Amino acid sequence: MTQLIDPFARAISYLRVSVTDRCDFRCTYCMSENMTFLPKADLLSLEELDRLCTTFIRMGVQKLRITGGEPLVRKGILTFFEAMSRHLGTGALKELTLTTNGSQLTKFAEPLAALGIKRINVSLDTLDPAKFAQITRWGRLPQVLDGIAAAKAAGLRVKINAVALKGFNEDELFSLTDWCAANDHDLTFIEVMPMGDDMGSATRLDQYWPLKDLRARLAERFALTDLTEQTGGPARYVRLAETGQKIGFITPLTHNFCESCNRVRLTCTGELYMCLGQEDMADLRAPLRANPEDAGLEQAIRAAIARKPKGHDFDYSRQKVAGKIGGQMTRHMSHTGG
Ligand code: SAM
Ligand code: SF4
Repeated sequence: MTQLIDPFARAISYLRVSVTDRCDFRCTYCMSENMTFLPKADLLSLEELDRLCTTFIRMGVQKLRITGGEPLVRKGILTFFEAMSRHLGTGALKELTLTTNGSQLTKFAEPLAALGIKRINVSLDTLDPAKFAQITRWGRLPQVLDGIAAAKAAGLRVKINAVALKGFNEDELFSLTDWCAANDHDLTFIEVMPMGDDMGSATRLDQYWPLKDLRARLAERFALTDLTEQTGGPARYVRLAETGQKIGFITPLTHNFCESCNRVRLTCTGELYMCLGQEDMADLRAPLRANPEDAGLEQAIRAAIARKPKGHDFDYSRQKVAGKIGGQMTRHMSHTGG
């Protein structure tokens, strides 16, 4: 089967899959407190997710990231990881990984490691228990820290993802960095995106802490060396000379990564988003359910990839960001999986 290539000659080798829109947290930048979740019947079953992912892998996807919502709250999720790990066994899949809030890791870290998962991303914005409860609404910090410790003990490499929030975790820049150094976790900061609709963009824009400012503050204490590695995603990395740590910066609102974009996103209802910043999507659930043979599904995937845009639509400039909300995305990160 020939590799999926988009109209701009980019090979599509990375698929992010949201396996549920549900979550045991209600992070303020991600969800409203009273979320209405999708009816269960709309969700792809684990068998359907297996069939879809397997089709993508046959078409050249080599890296699969499982996300949500919170992927580890989906019932039976280990069965799905087990199913995907067979593609690690054949070598078709180079990496199977997940992004999690860490709340279920004491239970899942070991079985995940046993299935061949090597690295995971854990989202953690603060090390202060009160602030953690405030930002996640329903989360408890000790549970997550225990989960991270369990992951490390199981031999998983943990990358911490922290959303940079002005007036919230600015004062923890160095304590978070030090904590990651002490525990040998990589650390990536994410610029807050104008997604969701609960708080209104004004509030979100008030929280906007540009990563160039964060980086400048980091440089006051550390010597930063830019790393040239390209992941095909919106992350740029630096090395801190003093600690040897790798620090990442994800700036989803800039266009500087679109030309090397190698990824697409699948929602838990089978919608394929070709670009995080655009509304265009293809429904794969209908062709999946229409026929037990995969030919129609493959055709639908190829047709979707042929529509992958050159770049995204977050069209406001940094300077004017507070005054313009034209780039507001109405869907939630928990839907497309971040
Ligand atoms: N529940 C898992 C977690 O929190 O890691 C996986 C899903 S979550 C939607 C994936 C990532 O999206 C998390 O790192 C989260 O911090 C990030 N995220 C959610 N809403 C965001 C926003 N408005 N701006 C930037 N990042 C956001
Ligand atoms: Fe849940 Fe992750 Fe969204 Fe927080 S960021 S509400 S943990 S899906």
